[in-house]
Amino acid sequence: MKKIQMVDLRSQYLNIKTEIDKGIQDVIDACAFINGPAVRNFQEYLEKYLGVKHVIPCANGTDALQVAMMAYNFQPGDEVITTSFTFIATAEVIALLKLTPVLVDVDPDTFNIDPKAIERAITPRTRAIVPVHLFGQTAPMEEVMEIAGKHNLVVIEDNCQAIGSDYIFSDGTRKKAGTIGHIGCTSFFPSKNLGCYGDGGAIFTNDDELAKQMRVVVNHGMTVRYYHDYIGVNSRLDSIQAAILKVKLARLDEYAAKRRAAADFYDKAFAGNPKLTTPTRYAKSTHVFHQYTLVTKNVDRKGLIEFLTSKEIPAMIYYPVPMHLQKAYLDPRYKPGDFPVTEHLCETVFSLPMHTELDNEQLTHITQSVLEFVNA
Ligand SMILES: *Cc1c(COP(=O)(O)O)cnc(C)c1O
Repeated sequence: MKKIQMVDLRSQYLNIKTEIDKGIQDVIDACAFINGPAVRNFQEYLEKYLGVKHVIPCANGTDALQVAMMAYNFQPGDEVITTSFTFIATAEVIALLKLTPVLVDVDPDTFNIDPKAIERAITPRTRAIVPVHLFGQTAPMEEVMEIAGKHNLVVIEDNCQAIGSDYIFSDGTRKKAGTIGHIGCTSFFPSKNLGCYGDGGAIFTNDDELAKQMRVVVNHGMTVRYYHDYIGVNSRLDSIQAAILKVKLARLDEYAAKRRAAADFYDKAFAGNPKLTTPTRYAKSTHVFHQYTLVTKNVDRKGLIEFLTSKEIPAMIYYPVPMHLQKAYLDPRYKPGDFPVTEHLCETVFSLPMHTELDNEQLTHITQSVLEFVNA
């Protein structure tokens, strides 16, 4: 059996090697490493794929979130509402900009931000909401946008985990995750659904003024060469990464289908098991399975992961610590017990290998091993 990886980038590369190698070689031949035509090409291709007016490439997903927040003239102490169950970057940029992260709990089935909890967290200082499309499924954007509209708030989507996911509105219209709020942010970290071979990220918006402002922010706050009207950052996607991303974007939907097929296999194997809850597929979003995350009940999770490791099956806990209990983010406003759903998930979830190259032999070995441990 082929060695099982959490994400098998090597097998994926071998299947697209000719195109990837050519893309990289073309950039080297042209020596247009920074802001070359490959970046522009990829940008336009992604705009078309997402159906969004502007894509602004940048250096990583964390920068994308930071630049999005810098585009608004938020003041220190302004509040930004986000979820307590996410990767640290979401809250990190809020804190870095001296804004106040206001955390809210998530829905126990989808793991995404709970709109009712957002409403309760709004104060006169609230400026923005940052929903995270966790594990590959779009957050309830219709509700989020309605709340934002009512309170005149900005919505910045953290779409680092759900690129390609469709959100389906009540009237049946569909939009791509990341293109529904005022700004969407994504990461091209290698293990993301659309990953490059290094670091990369992008920001999306349909707003011409915001796009113009964010292009200035990512380029040292420069309006005219060597004239700096704002304090900006240096955040670029390099041309080699853009060339790689172009090859992979052409396959993004096919890759999502492969991930869903692996998820279907897992779902079927674990269906009805009283100790395992398989991921809920939210009716208003297609799931692109960035992660396949199970909730355990009465299972020794640590023992399970050790058992799987002994069978050469990697498994991970996303995420072991809720945001409000992270050492750097401890805050007298919050204490253990404040976000019961998040805290419960942090104690009970685990994620199985999920990528585009899983074969039936591997999936069988994984599911049989999990069941062997939990049914013992
Ligand atoms: C990966 C990720 C980020 C950060 O992306 P980087 O490219 O690693 O900076 C932010 N938010 C979420 C939810 C992520 O999964």
